[in-house]
Amino acid sequence: MSLDAFDAIVVGGAAAGLTAALYTSRQGLKALVVTRDIGGQAPLTDSMDNYPGFGLMGRLQAQAKLYGTAFVCDEAIAITEEAPSRFPARTYAVDWRYKRHRSNGSGYADR
Ligand SMILES: Cc1cc2nc3c(=O)[nH]c(=O)nc-3n(C[C@H](O)[C@H](O)[C@H](O)COP(=O)(O)OP(=O)(O)OC[C@H]3O[C@@H](n4cnc5c(N)ncnc54)[C@H](O)[C@@H]3O)c2cc1C
Repeated sequence: MSLDAFDAIVVGGAAAGLTAALYTSRQGLKALVVTRDIGGQAPLTDSMDNYPGFGLMGRLQAQAKLYGTAFVCDEAIAITEEAPSRFPARTYAVDWRYKRHRSNGSGYADR
């Protein structure tokens, strides 16, 4: 994966982030998900109300991958405005840059 290759960087690979990545990719935009894990809070419970099935997070990730979303397991430690509409995401491993959008799906957990 190369810098400046992505239209969007999504921080967080759970319900919000995976959904954002899925719909971004389905619009033909190149998305990268930077996340510490897949699923976030949802896998912490063994009974999920408001959802009639199981394995939702895996299905969301699989569908996002199908449309071209890339995933890295890392932690976003800073997102700063580099220039108007440019917010590179700094992680422990690398600085990810992108062309157009930023999305934050990182829930309410510490970040
Ligand atoms: C025990 C329990 C039971 C629940 N039961 C239900 C229920 O029955 N019905 C219901 O609708 N909801 C339920 N919820 C709530 C539901 O799980 C959450 O509303 C939902 O998971 C929120 O999704 P999210 O994507 O916004 O954030 P989260 O699930 O919090 O995910 C955040 C993601 O961002 C990542 N992240 C955060 N910061 C960074 C960073 N700096 N760099 C990289 N990655 C980062 C995390 O690793 C994680 O992947 C329950 C929650 C719990 C804990």
